Amino acid sequence: MRLSRSFLPVLRDTPKDAEIVSHQLMLRAGMIRQESAGIYAWLPLGLKVLGKVNQIIREEQNRAGAQELLMPTIQSADLWRESGRYDAYGKEMLRINDRHDREMLFGPTNEEMVTEIFRTYVKSYRSLPLNLYHLQWKFRDEVRPRFGVMRSREFLMKDAYSFDLDAAGARHSYNKMFVAYLRTFARFGLKAIPMRADTGPIGGDLSHEFIILADTGESEVFCHKDFLDFATPQANTNFDDVSALQATVEKWTSLYAATSDMHDAAAYGQIGADKQVSARGIEVGHIFYFGTKYSEPMKAQVQGPDGKPVTVHMGSYGIGPTRVVAAVIEASHDANGIIWPVPLAPFEVGLVNLKVGDKDTDLVANDLYAKLERAGLSVLLDDTDERAGGKFASMDLMGLPFQLIVGPKGVKAGEVEIKERKTGERLTLSMDAALRRLSDLVSARRMLA
Ligand code: ATP
Ligand code: MG
Repeated sequence: MRLSRSFLPVLRDTPKDAEIVSHQLMLRAGMIRQESAGIYAWLPLGLKVLGKVNQIIREEQNRAGAQELLMPTIQSADLWRESGRYDAYGKEMLRINDRHDREMLFGPTNEEMVTEIFRTYVKSYRSLPLNLYHLQWKFRDEVRPRFGVMRSREFLMKDAYSFDLDAAGARHSYNKMFVAYLRTFARFGLKAIPMRADTGPIGGDLSHEFIILADTGESEVFCHKDFLDFATPQANTNFDDVSALQATVEKWTSLYAATSDMHDAAAYGQIGADKQVSARGIEVGHIFYFGTKYSEPMKAQVQGPDGKPVTVHMGSYGIGPTRVVAAVIEASHDANGIIWPVPLAPFEVGLVNLKVGDKDTDLVANDLYAKLERAGLSVLLDDTDERAGGKFASMDLMGLPFQLIVGPKGVKAGEVEIKERKTGERLTLSMDAALRRLSDLVSARRMLA
C-alpha cells in the first residue's frame, strides 16, 4: 500500500480525553474514531489489525472443532422471554421497537438464539458434541463506557456455544475451548492467565476468565508467578484426547489465580511471597459451563442412546476482539508508539523513501516495494513528501515491526537500512541482502505459538 494514496489519518497530539495509552495510541495512529459515547468507527489501519485478530481466533476455534456461523445482531424479545432473561437483563440491553411495534433488541450475547437454532435442527445424541461460534457485534449499554474500545457499548465478540449429552461431555467441550484460548492469546503475543471467575448473570459452576496483566486493567487480580512461564499447548494438540486435554487444563488451573471477586486471601497467603503476583488485569476472554440453564426452559432436547429425550448441557465461550486490539497495545508499546507483534501488524514492513522525487531513490524504493510484495510481505510504502523526522515518527507510532529505510546517500553506496521497531536495532545492508533478511525476519515471527 502506498501511503500517498491511503486513508491513514495520523494525529500529532495526544487527544485530551483519552485516559489510557492504548486509547491514545489508537486515536493517534488513526485506527479508530469515536462516533458516539462508546461507539467507534474502525478506520483502515485499525480494521486491518482487527481482521488479523479475528483470523487467529477463527483458526484456533476451527482447530478445536468449533464451526462458524453468523447470527444477526437484532433479536426478538420473545426468545429472551423464553429463557426468562428479558426482564432480568436490565438497562444494559438496548431495546428497540420495530414499525409493527414488535419488541426487538440489539443482542448483548446469543445463548437464546443459538439454543433456538440448535433445538430446531438437532434431534439425536449422534449429532453431539456440537460447538457453534460466530464473530458478531454486540451492544451493551454500559453505564460508564471508557478507555476507548476497551470498554465500549458496541463491541465485537467471538462467542461460541457448546452442546453435549451430559456433564462429562460438556467438561471436555469446556476443556477444548480452554486450550484453544491459551493458544489464541499466545498467538497475539499475550500472556493470558485463566482465573477462576464468578459466573455472574449467566450462571453455572465452571468458569474462567482469561486475564492479561496490565497496569491499566480494570480488575484487581492475584496469581502465582509461575503461570508466567507455563508453555503454551502445541498446535498439534489432539483435541479428541479427553484425558490429555483434562491434564493440560489441570496444569493451568493447579496454581492460585483469581480476580478480586473470587479472591481467597488465605489461599493466596499460602504462596511464598516471592511467587505472589498482585496486579491489575484486563479480561480478554471468558468461558462458562452452565449445564441446562437455557436448554431446560427452552426445551433443547435430543433423543438419547436409549431413545429417551435428554436435555443438553451447554457452555459459552467469549473473546472480545476489539478489546484484544487495545489490550495488545497496553502490553506492547513505548514512548514513540505501538509495537505490533508480526502476526497482528497492519503491515509487516514500513518502507520509507527519504527523498521522494529523487530519481534514483524513487527507483530503488519502488523496486524494493515490488519485490517485497512479490515475496509475500505486506508493505506500507511512505512515498509522501513529508520530512524525514515526520516519516520516522509516523512509522514508530503505527508500530510496524520492521522499517526499511531508503535514502539518497545509501542508494549511491548501494545500501539500505533495516530497523526493528521493537529493539531499535539497525542494520545496513545491500538491497538484495536486505530483502532476504527481511523475508527471514518476518517469516520467523509470523507464528508465535
Ligand atoms: P466485563 O466484566 O469486562 O464487563 P463481561 O464479563 O461482561 O465483561 P463477557 O460477557 O464475559 O463480558 O464477554 C466476553 C468478552 O467480551 C469479554 O471477555 C471481553 O473480552 C469482551 N467484552 C465484554 N464487554 C465488553 C465491552 N463493554 N467492550 C469491549 N469488550 C467487551
Ligand atoms: Mg466476563
